Amino acid sequence: MTFDKLSDVYHSGTKNEENQPSHLLIADTNIRNERCTVEYGNPCQYFCPAAVYVMEQGKDTRLQIHLNPSNCVHCKTCDIMDPYQIITWVPPEGGGGPNYENL
Ligand code: SF4
Repeated sequence: MTFDKLSDVYHSGTKNEENQPSHLLIADTNIRNERCTVEYGNPCQYFCPAAVYVMEQGKDTRLQIHLNPSNCVHCKTCDIMDPYQIITWVPPEGGGGPNYENL
C-alpha cells in the first residue's frame, strides 16, 4: 500500500506559515534549470519526499524549478544530496514543520 507524496505530507501533520520568506535557498537557479537538467535530470524533484521541488514549464517553454516550501517536512535531504551543493535549508520562521503524532 503506497501513498502519493502530498498524502504523505498531510499524514506528517506538517504546518508551515504560507506567507513567509522561503526557508529553502537556491544559490543559482540557472544551474538548476540548465546544467542540472542536462547532467543529472533534476534529481531534487525525485529525492524530495514532499514534492517541494517541481519542474514546471516556464514562459519560454523550457522547464524551470518551482518551489513549494510550505510542504517541507524538514528532512534536509536536499541540502545533502544536491549534486552542486547550491541548495541551503534553514529553519522556517514561526517554528512550523512536521508533527509526527504516531512515531
Ligand atoms: Fe524536501 Fe528538502 Fe524539505 Fe526534505 S528538507 S522535505 S528534501 S525540501
